[in-house]
Amino acid sequence: MQNFAQYADWAYLIGAVLFILTLRGLSSPMSAVMGNRYGMMGMGLAVVTTFFLASNANVVMILGAMVLGAIIGIYRARTVPMTQMPETVAMMHSLVGLAAVLIALAAVFHQGMTHDTVHRFELFVGCFVGAITFTASVIAWGKLSAKLGARPLKGVWVKPVQALLFLLMLALGGEYFVSENVQAFIGMTGVALVFGYFWIAPIGGGDMPVVVSLLNSLSGWAAAGIGFTLNNSMLIIAGSLVGSSGAILSYIMCRAMNRSLLNVLFGGFGQTATVDVVDAGERSHRAGSPDDAAFLMANADSVIIVPGYGMAQARAQNAVKELADALKSKGVRTRYAIHPVAGRMPGHMNVLLAEADVSYEEVFEMESINSDFAATDVVLVIGANDVVNPAAKDNPASPIYGMPILEASRARTILVIKRSMATGYAGLDNDLFYLDKTMMVFGDAKKVVEDMVKGVLGGGH
Ligand code: NDP
Repeated sequence: MQNFAQYADWAYLIGAVLFILTLRGLSSPMSAVMGNRYGMMGMGLAVVTTFFLASNANVVMILGAMVLGAIIGIYRARTVPMTQMPETVAMMHSLVGLAAVLIALAAVFHQGMTHDTVHRFELFVGCFVGAITFTASVIAWGKLSAKLGARPLKGVWVKPVQALLFLLMLALGGEYFVSENVQAFIGMTGVALVFGYFWIAPIGGGDMPVVVSLLNSLSGWAAAGIGFTLNNSMLIIAGSLVGSSGAILSYIMCRAMNRSLLNVLFGGFGQTATVDVVDAGERSHRAGSPDDAAFLMANADSVIIVPGYGMAQARAQNAVKELADALKSKGVRTRYAIHPVAGRMPGHMNVLLAEADVSYEEVFEMESINSDFAATDVVLVIGANDVVNPAAKDNPASPIYGMPILEASRARTILVIKRSMATGYAGLDNDLFYLDKTMMVFGDAKKVVEDMVKGVLGGGH
């Protein structure tokens, strides 16, 4: 074992480099596949090394757990539809949090294991971060999978309860830290679990993207905490990488929504979003058929396609690619515009378009395409709503005021595919749908786009 420990350090170092290459690879869709491969290699190396490093290991139990975990993981990876990825990610974060709690409890209860002050601090922080991550991720999973309502928990009592629970958690943790009182440790874990619920439940659906990425970060810090408890450098490095990359992503997303992290977590638009619904039935809108829309697009010089959650929901990405190809064959300049929080997870639209083999050169991020809308003949909004809502720019009273949007309203003609006049995720009515130059095309996105393809290919230019 002594000798192996020497090699283990080298193996962990290689694993850490592979994880860094993973993050680098994942920063662009072109290198993401390779990035994933580096991640698999790094994780494989880390697991095998740790397996051989363990002293007095219960080999049967470890192998049993690994086989069971692998079976569940492979099954889930093969069967999960793209639309369920966000809640699957949230669920995986919850497992990391739970692992941190269980390992901390095992270390605290371990016979003959003594804990100095540094170790007690690691246990206390790793355990409460893990416990908060666990319940918060389960609630995020429930909200994203619609098993729980997306409505935020409201009331004047919510913030005082949050503050009380947080202070109680710190006090119990402090008591354990000072006196190694095991009951205080258990109490702290229980309070942290409850706090996780009260922390996430008041946050509205519209703020979920940031919450999911923040939970990603927390799960990383919890893993790093376990690494300290187990004295495992690989876990400390991997956890810190996940923790810091998740924190950076949260920051980038907050910037994309023009909000501060504190504003998202302790009182943002998500809190009021679901109550601010205007009765859409009273206003008039124009509607047309897929054929009408196809005619308009085929006779345009330029079209920008704006995909949103509805495209994912309808699994319409392949049909959308066909439509873009059909338009291009008619000489229409066709591009895609992606909002950073379109869909239900960061990069949701990019992944779907990549799956449909859309060329990266045709896909533009918000900042680089927003100035082009005014000079565009037709913008085709496919199952997107909040990310093109002009209220974010024009209406200071709107809960989403200040959030950057794709400026679809500036195009000469706007076509919107959705099934009804219902609101999007943030629960807000959208003025874009009532403009004179807007034509709604009602129906399931996949069916409508397929009909549009027929219309474009059937008609002349
Ligand atoms: P929205 O949820 O705002 O709107 C989607 C629209 O798609 C709905 O209005 C719906 O209208 C329509 N739709 C749903 N299913 C279909 C279908 N089968 N065919 C046609 N239309 C359909 O989506 P956006 O992408 O515009 O905005 C994303 C929202 O989600 C933002 O509020 C964002 O903050 C939030 N969010 C984002 C996350 C992320 O990380 N990207 C994570 C979690 C939330 P109808 O019912 O009438 O068909």
